Amino acid sequence: MAGAPTPSLLDQPVTALPGAGPVTAARLAERGLERIRDLLSFLPLGYEDFRTLYPLPALARLPEGQAVVVRARVARVRPFFRRLLDVYLEQDGVQMRARWFRPNAGMVKTYAKGSLVALAGILRRGKDGSPEIIHPRNVTALLLAQEASGTESGLGLRPRYPAVEKVPGRVIEKLVAAAVEQAAALVPDVLPEGVAKRLGLPSISEALREVHRPEASLPDDRLAELMAGQAPAQRRLALEDLFVVQVGLALERGRARRANGWHCDVDGEAALASVRAALPFVPTSAQERAIRTLYADLGSATPMQRLLQGDVGSGKTAVAFAAALLVARARGQSLLMAPTEVLAEQHGRTLASWGGKVGLRVAVLHAGLAAQERRRVLGGVAAGAIDLLVGTHALLEQGVRVLRLALAIVDEQHRFGVRQRVALRRVGGWIPDQKTGMVPHLLVLSATPIPRSLALTAYGDLDLVTLDQSPPGRQVVATQLCVGEAARREALAAVKAAVAAGGQGFVVCPAIVEQEQGESGRRASVLPRFRELGPLLAPARVGLLHGQMPSDKQQAVLAAFRAGKLDVLVATTVLEVGVDVPAASIIVIEDAERFGLAQLHQLRGRVGRGGQASSCFLLTGAQDPETLDRLAFVAATSDGFRIAEEDLRRRGPGEIYGENQTGLPGLWLRDPSGAAALVESARREAEALLAEDPALTSPEHAALRQTIEIRWLRRRPIAEEAG
Ligand code: ADP
Ligand code: MG
Repeated sequence: MAGAPTPSLLDQPVTALPGAGPVTAARLAERGLERIRDLLSFLPLGYEDFRTLYPLPALARLPEGQAVVVRARVARVRPFFRRLLDVYLEQDGVQMRARWFRPNAGMVKTYAKGSLVALAGILRRGKDGSPEIIHPRNVTALLLAQEASGTESGLGLRPRYPAVEKVPGRVIEKLVAAAVEQAAALVPDVLPEGVAKRLGLPSISEALREVHRPEASLPDDRLAELMAGQAPAQRRLALEDLFVVQVGLALERGRARRANGWHCDVDGEAALASVRAALPFVPTSAQERAIRTLYADLGSATPMQRLLQGDVGSGKTAVAFAAALLVARARGQSLLMAPTEVLAEQHGRTLASWGGKVGLRVAVLHAGLAAQERRRVLGGVAAGAIDLLVGTHALLEQGVRVLRLALAIVDEQHRFGVRQRVALRRVGGWIPDQKTGMVPHLLVLSATPIPRSLALTAYGDLDLVTLDQSPPGRQVVATQLCVGEAARREALAAVKAAVAAGGQGFVVCPAIVEQEQGESGRRASVLPRFRELGPLLAPARVGLLHGQMPSDKQQAVLAAFRAGKLDVLVATTVLEVGVDVPAASIIVIEDAERFGLAQLHQLRGRVGRGGQASSCFLLTGAQDPETLDRLAFVAATSDGFRIAEEDLRRRGPGEIYGENQTGLPGLWLRDPSGAAALVESARREAEALLAEDPALTSPEHAALRQTIEIRWLRRRPIAEEAG
């Protein structure tokens, strides 16, 4: 077959479109929007309905947040230097304020008193309750043109795209519209023929057109579907995404099956004895069982595909350690990828101290590393002088070369995208290794059970092993639901008391900075909380930890906490994964309703690790029974698996495992069973296709092959990677 397909308009840079200069292009590129193809797959988050022209008096009856178009005369103009421009429109005795920040000089002229203008925007209410629009779009000319041409008035449905830093929404809208106009028809259909039709779904070109540029004449029920993320066009795009992932996974799986694993032909019992010698505790029988299972996998010549599932605190790290030790005995190297730097550091420290006793050489790699240290680590790994490299997704960066990669371990799997997980096995260009046909073993760690449909989406097939037992002496964390201000004060008093008794604790907030939150008021955020709690909890020493702090700062704070130099950490969800400080015995979670159930359970798992009685306070200002019921469930349940099931039942997997690979997140959220059915269809179709054409070599699958390379491998063609 001929080499690369002819480059089409789809592969042209966005600068090929009118209105995208080099500066805009650079900003778009940061968001991964480099080619016209990328713009087409940049899907709207929702839609604004600008189809109705509202008279000003009607605005009083509309809810805030409604998209509106108005046309009225300018009654008053109030510029505040260059900072602000207020324009008041009036119609039938009712006024509405339009406000622009940093207006340009020409605008004052545009809005001369008495002129008739049309504006479109999102309705808000000023302090006095009167209607206003911030930064409306001037649609005067547009409306006139429409009316002159006799088409329906109004502006139709406007897609709302995810924000791209420093690129105005209007520019994105224009560029995507141009991309759709010029290139949507060129997008190849990668679903096998008949699949879309059988499911009653449109072609990819039609689907893209409809999702980006919905018809203004859409009937209400169809519009509701679209808004809910369930329109046929959206299902089509989701199905395609799922299908591409499934085919990619199946290819990967086929390769792994045909390939060899690193054959650990060494004495497992001897290695297990070393593991026991290295660990500062006696492994539970569940841990030993899991280790033996992994040793059997690693001792076979086929690459392992294993998911190790175990509740928070069940001791998965020790099992991973044991696997890496066996591999090292067989002269192979291991990678362990963790989702945060804090966790990577912590694992690095723990594993190095265990490894030190039995000759396992451990190093850490993350983006916060100084250049010299980084070079040293990379050199060691490339030379085979490091047995286990622990890191964040920095492990996936170019430049990481592993001499004898035999085992890839992913911790807290749900925090990674499917592509990252696949990529970890490829570090150093190992899959499929051309010379040896070798594929690294894969071990995935998870505290949350994954339903079958999702496991299929995320991994294809994985064998499962479960840690069904916690280390001895673990106590159930006494969890209390606290509603309202008085209860909050009590919870904080409990923190103070715990500290006075020599304990340590956490206060968790959902956000970093204060954010205005529509109806529900302000949400707890870590910066103001930190300022507030310092004096409130005195003499307790209070520290601050959040993910936007420089990495060394985060490490320093955590180290101080570990060393007992801080009593309380006020933190964001950066705590959620893995942070292990056995002395901590109390955790307060503010605005608990903003967290998922599984997330709350993970957070709660930060305490009660040292065998002492521990407590958790779930604070909320929420009133609605559904929310309180949800929180009460977590408070009453200590079994992480049951909590995960409940979470899944209530919210759907898209929210929990919310990533692109689950198709459109909205679909999962609103229609989990429909989404699961889509996954199953995608899986079936993928299998049928590969049964026919296992390596996708037939010309009719060229487009699919290319799409997989583009989406799946992030534009590193398979050939390049293998070569
Ligand atoms: P998780 O499964 O959540 O990753 P970790 O591996 O972080 O759990 O283990 C939680 C804590 O329990 C750690 O402090 C770890 O050292 C400790 N631990 C693990 N296994 C045992 C054991 N068999 N006996 C006592 N403590 C253990
Ligand atoms: Mg862990």
